[in-house]
Amino acid sequence: MDTSQTTLVPVYLSVLVLVASVSSLFLYLAYRFCSPEGAFLPREVSEFPAKGGLTHKSVLVVFAHPDDEAMFMTPTLRALISKGWTVYFLCLTDGSGGGDGSVRAAELLASGDYFGVAPTHIEVVADPDLPDSMQAAWTTQLVAQYITRAVQRWCPGHVMTFDAFGVSGHVNHRAVHAGVAAWRKSHDEEHLTRPNVWALRSQPLYWKYLGPLVRLFPAPSASRTGAVVFHPPWCDIRCPFMAMRRHKSQLVWFRYLFVWFSSYTYENVWVPM
Ligand SMILES: [Zn+2]
Repeated sequence: MDTSQTTLVPVYLSVLVLVASVSSLFLYLAYRFCSPEGAFLPREVSEFPAKGGLTHKSVLVVFAHPDDEAMFMTPTLRALISKGWTVYFLCLTDGSGGGDGSVRAAELLASGDYFGVAPTHIEVVADPDLPDSMQAAWTTQLVAQYITRAVQRWCPGHVMTFDAFGVSGHVNHRAVHAGVAAWRKSHDEEHLTRPNVWALRSQPLYWKYLGPLVRLFPAPSASRTGAVVFHPPWCDIRCPFMAMRRHKSQLVWFRYLFVWFSSYTYENVWVPM
């Protein structure tokens, strides 16, 4: 390590401590003075648009691993379900790359129970051709087949999934997006009758770990055409932690840190696909 790198270490540490202190104070004050009556930003939810005949308030959320829904999508799930929407989960692995598949599948059901998603509205795929792995490439058409089947089964008004980067860049997240995109493309001619498709915007690194401070500024992609933003009320900011507690096998210290500092705890930005 050269001299300039050595002098930068205390600078990085100071910035980290400053962000942690300010965000913790901000979080405490926001939670302390939060009004539960103001819960859930009906403006954003009511503006979540539907098209054609798809006015029924239902959404199929497609993700790769049990716990993706809790770590990345809690503001959206809480907002929609609190407004009477029906939510379906399609999880394309049982998470066996990070633990026992049957345990993790059961944890997803427990998380669904926390959010208010019925077990019959949750499908956990355990397909050897879609392994939970950072290395394995998934066949896009196979993912698209699972989407087709879930849409035929549940007839949702909306499909929501990761964007092309997949929040963390995980190859499985990206493969889920590719599969949904392929499914959407193959149904382009039915654009008036098929579900609306939404992608969870991956935020740039400088934004991703700003914690509650992200609520002080407009999100980088919130002004994009058709973007929809979900902000939980401050009293609800414990919900991602509560949901993650249903994923007991995954609760290691750095996940607590992730949930605390992740911008996805404090806002979700969705863009049309
Ligand atoms: Zn994941």
